[in-house]
Amino acid sequence: MLNKKSVDDINVKGKKVLVRCDFNVPLKDGKITDENRLVAALPTIKKLIADGGKVILCSHLGKPKGEPKPELSLAPVAARLTELLGQEVKFAADKEVVGANAKAAVQAMKDGEVILLENTRYRAEETKNGEAFSKDLASLCEVFVNDAFGTAHRAHCSNVGVSALVDTAVVGYLMQKEIDFLGNAVNNPERPFVAILGGAKVADKLNVINNLLEKCDTLIIGGGMAYTFLKAKGYEVGTSLIDNEKIDYCKEMMEKAEKLGKKLLLPIDTTIASEFPNPIDAEIDITVVPSDQIPADKMGLDIGTKTAELYAEAVKSAKTVVWNGPMGVFENPILAKGTIAVAKSLAETDATTIIGGGDSAAAVNQLGFGDKMSHISTGGGASLEFLEGKELPGVAAANDK
Ligand code: AMP
Repeated sequence: MLNKKSVDDINVKGKKVLVRCDFNVPLKDGKITDENRLVAALPTIKKLIADGGKVILCSHLGKPKGEPKPELSLAPVAARLTELLGQEVKFAADKEVVGANAKAAVQAMKDGEVILLENTRYRAEETKNGEAFSKDLASLCEVFVNDAFGTAHRAHCSNVGVSALVDTAVVGYLMQKEIDFLGNAVNNPERPFVAILGGAKVADKLNVINNLLEKCDTLIIGGGMAYTFLKAKGYEVGTSLIDNEKIDYCKEMMEKAEKLGKKLLLPIDTTIASEFPNPIDAEIDITVVPSDQIPADKMGLDIGTKTAELYAEAVKSAKTVVWNGPMGVFENPILAKGTIAVAKSLAETDATTIIGGGDSAAAVNQLGFGDKMSHISTGGGASLEFLEGKELPGVAAANDK
């Protein structure tokens, strides 16, 4: 359990409460195309409204790189939040984020009202945890609530800097839920604990592989990263994605698994094609071959059918499953079968199923299995760093219980 104070441990009646949310949602032509992060933020916001706080929301959106960029304004988020909450969320348009306009809007607030500040990354100091912007943010409030798991792996003004400058800094419900689910899975899992890792490169997930191998009973590898493992086993992998510098690392991990008595499952067959699809969702001719029979001029782009069955079997006997990274180039329906099979096996099990943020979360939601999972993390990088066993600065900054 998280040993940090939460919104349940404080009294916000009549107080100005600054809440760092993760409203970094995808936008297309000014419209929000995936509002999961907004919905995930509602429980904390509703609680603070009900308790009579003056609720000042803030978040970053995209990468404006320290300059006001109208296309990255949070105005559309305020409009959608107004609908979702059924109460006005006033947008404090302000190029300086905490300039004259925002300050006046905060001054005019009554208990239970909600405003949203402009994109925190309009300010160059934000991502450098610069003091001036941290002070500006702290000057707006008496209480700070961090509910942005998606940025918890970064030390920025709006999560870490501001925490040090207020008397009360606590975490919100979403942050608590994320840490409870991920923390329990990794540190106190109901066993057997099966971890599934996929995605593009081994290099991006070195520490995750290493840490999860120690914690889990079975580690399953799929996606692009599987081919470096297969090459480390001495197989021909053709033109598949390979991290040549990480072949020794993969050998080490296979030896480590053996030493620890852990199962490390690699694809036994693989879906191959002549080249990477271009565009990514283009029609493509595929064949499935055993993993040790990939022709020199072919590329592995998904796990094969037998592998999908093997992985589904492993999931069936698990009590806890953590999954991060697709099993193949899931953006192409012809190469999404492995990812769908794994998603389906998670959807069908009674085990606790936890999906790391980013591509795997998007895949599970897109495939319609979202509501079948115990928890889908809202943080891609943050959930990965958590699975690496790192302390997240955004969490560490909150007051201890
Ligand atoms: P990541 O961001 O590391 O989770 O990687 C996700 C990306 O990995 C997706 O865009 C997939 O298309 C890609 N990917 C998965 N399997 C393969 C593969 N066999 N070859 C190349 N890319 C892959």
